[in-house]
Amino acid sequence: MNLGDYLTKFKELHVDKNKNRYSAGKAPHKPILLLSLILLSKNNKIDLSDIKPNIYLRETWAELWKILSYNRTGPIYLPLYHLRSDGFWKIEFKKHVHPHQPRSIHEFNSIVSSITLDDDLIDLIDDDNSRNKLINSLLNGGYFSEIEINNLKKAIRIIDRSFDYEKKLILLINDEFKMSHNILTSEFKPSRDPAFRRIVLTSYNETCSVCGVKLITSSGISIIDAAHILPFSQYNNDDIRNGMALCKTHHWLFDKGLISVDDHYRVLVSGAVEEETPESVLTKFNKNDMIMPNESSKYPSQVALDWHRERIFQR
Ligand SMILES: [Zn+2]
Repeated sequence: MNLGDYLTKFKELHVDKNKNRYSAGKAPHKPILLLSLILLSKNNKIDLSDIKPNIYLRETWAELWKILSYNRTGPIYLPLYHLRSDGFWKIEFKKHVHPHQPRSIHEFNSIVSSITLDDDLIDLIDDDNSRNKLINSLLNGGYFSEIEINNLKKAIRIIDRSFDYEKKLILLINDEFKMSHNILTSEFKPSRDPAFRRIVLTSYNETCSVCGVKLITSSGISIIDAAHILPFSQYNNDDIRNGMALCKTHHWLFDKGLISVDDHYRVLVSGAVEEETPESVLTKFNKNDMIMPNESSKYPSQVALDWHRERIFQR
């Protein structure tokens, strides 16, 4: 198939139509997934011949949904499965599996062995000129309201830049840790959050480094935060060694100084807690080894942790 065929297919995706449920009368799930894949492929963050709902795809999906006029993020497993009816999305099912609509990412992974796009389409997405036409075809296919189209264009630019910022952040680990940084130009300002979040969550496997909680919704959203040790507002520091993956509770306790980490990467619990019932949130983690990133070059900096112990932690 040629570019013209795919432009038509992208404008005429088989989607659920419902004027009351969808802002433009057509379900946005498939176009949002395709936009996410195009953005990730441009930045070498996904292989279009072996598509997996990994953290990069789930985070980009969630970032794009944020600007649509829906209260909830759509479940990512729906378009991952249903795009097979559109003629360019090839799903291989696992042996002895009868194809059926999954009800979770977990079930999707348990029945599908691989997803790949047509080779012709992958080549077209690789090319700047045809890629932009494909994006426009999705934006103008009647899946989004006018306001959503404008906001999606902005979000696509911001996410695209977040990958450039991410490259700069990854390079920082080659140098000695510095307390503060100046790499954040105004160009990168709105793009920094998704970049920092992706590198921290990836290296901690989306797991709280204190309690080990990992929780991902069927929309693909992780409950885990990418927390700064030295506050970003004071030190401008998105170095991964100034980051820790923390659940909402432990992020709050860390920022309030009720929890810290010692120089052997053991959890420190403050004596300044008045009441804790049950003792399963805080006290039980005292002196436990924290859960570390997958590579030692990404371990939290003891310079940053020392600052946290001295300035924030309530002993
Ligand atoms: Zn936790």
